[in-house]
Amino acid sequence: MKKKDLPEINSNQILNVRNPRTGENDYKFELPTDLEIQHKCISLRQMHFVWQKAGLDFRIEILNQFAENIEIFRQEIMISLTLDTGRISESELEIRGVIDCIKRWSDSAPVLMNSENREIIAMNGRVISHRIQSSYPLVGVISPWNFPLLLSFIDAVPALLAGCAVIIKPSELTPRFIEPLKKILKMTVWKNPHNQTEEYSLSDICALVPGDGNIGHAIANNVDAVCFTGSVNTGKKVAVFCAERFIPAFLELGGKDPVIVLESADLDLASSAILWGATANAGQSCLSIERIYVQKSVSQKFLELLVKKAKVLKLNNAEILEGQIGPIISVAQAEIIKNQLVDAARNGAVLHCGGEFASNSGGNWCLPTVLTNVNHGMKIMTEETFGPILPIMEFQTPDEAISMANDSDFGLSAAVFAGDLAEAQEVAAQLEAGAVSVNDACLTAFVHSGSKSPLKNSGLGTSRMGHGGLLRFLRQQTLLLNQSSIRAPWWHSEAKTN
Ligand code: NAD
Repeated sequence: MKKKDLPEINSNQILNVRNPRTGENDYKFELPTDLEIQHKCISLRQMHFVWQKAGLDFRIEILNQFAENIEIFRQEIMISLTLDTGRISESELEIRGVIDCIKRWSDSAPVLMNSENREIIAMNGRVISHRIQSSYPLVGVISPWNFPLLLSFIDAVPALLAGCAVIIKPSELTPRFIEPLKKILKMTVWKNPHNQTEEYSLSDICALVPGDGNIGHAIANNVDAVCFTGSVNTGKKVAVFCAERFIPAFLELGGKDPVIVLESADLDLASSAILWGATANAGQSCLSIERIYVQKSVSQKFLELLVKKAKVLKLNNAEILEGQIGPIISVAQAEIIKNQLVDAARNGAVLHCGGEFASNSGGNWCLPTVLTNVNHGMKIMTEETFGPILPIMEFQTPDEAISMANDSDFGLSAAVFAGDLAEAQEVAAQLEAGAVSVNDACLTAFVHSGSKSPLKNSGLGTSRMGHGGLLRFLRQQTLLLNQSSIRAPWWHSEAKTN
């Protein structure tokens, strides 16, 4: 995307924010101007030198202080996050997720950042090659609305520990949590270990700014690396823009995750796990299960179990604490889900439960919906849905299931259920997905230690999972130290000059 495609923001505009439970605009915020973003990025980049020089142990200490302050203000964060998203238990999970992320990287960063031998003797002792790691000065994090807090910090935490300054722009649809977090960043104070007279706060090295796509663009224009989480369409624009600026863009994009249920599987376990994997956060997760392939010999039994369990789930529209399914946060997304359901019905899909939206009180709630008689000609089986929809197709042989699961533009994650781990593993290894859960669903939401690349349109660049999640923020440099005073035999021979 060229800069001219987006207007420059020269004066502070106000953006209204819709409450996903009431449908009313009950919050607003001021957009920063391009110049304000530019100035913020300059000051963050300057602070990077102090932060990087302070050392890893020091940064770990400050981030753990930040985690403690999050605990202290947990209730305040919960209130704003719940207003942003209309659900409670996932908001709790988000807060826990950020704290766990700080603990996890604090444990592994010291090992990772010192794992390689720093000095290598080369050329028969003539040269010592000395490794230096230098962090990107300023990383921009651009995040979506489905897990607003967690996805704002999941990349920011390892970047900060690596020594980078960070600027985060959450989605304009869910900005309420920004204010409490800014306060917590500000109250996390530290003194420059190399000059005790200089006192700073974490907000001097990690800034949270509200804003829309224009602000996201302004950030990409002023940072040294971008971590983008969002849709494929926007991700591609960000990737092109970053390529033009010649800076790395780490892209975590959409998915259309398949699950394969083999006839040997424990169907009771599979149906419970799949139902959770497709409906948690009302299906608004990149790694939601969105396509179900079941072996024909057990498909009827599986369908009965799934429908019975799906019918028990309740929307939380009347009372936020009652019911497992929260509102669809984005109005545009609710329209996409409705459109996909209409397309499926028009083309012969059979509805077993759900299929409707409840919109009492102005929000959009989608009932867990089980469909059969679907095919890959339908949007519901090919485009990202981001709602609690469970379309099922039958297969005869595992090879057929593998080819159907791989028939997608996406390759984020997948799942396989089988009675025998070896049988499941054989199928799992053939799936084109960054991570495959076996006899469980969406395990990458909990297990972050394994490296995984998002395949196909689901992303690009080193993923946030595994060691690379931190190491991608470090540039490798080498100092080559000649220890000898003897002239090298390959230098030009020179006439003696006395
Ligand atoms: P989106 O692409 O509309 O927006 C994401 C972010 O990009 C927002 O903050 C938005 O303001 C910003 N943005 C918009 N235009 C921009 C531009 N031109 N330059 C820079 N920034 C810009 O996505 P969304 O609707 O907020 O989120 C839903 C999508 O996110 C889904 O596709 C989902 O699968 C994906 N997602 C992926 C992961 C993952 O880890 N792979 C996790 C969560 C969500």
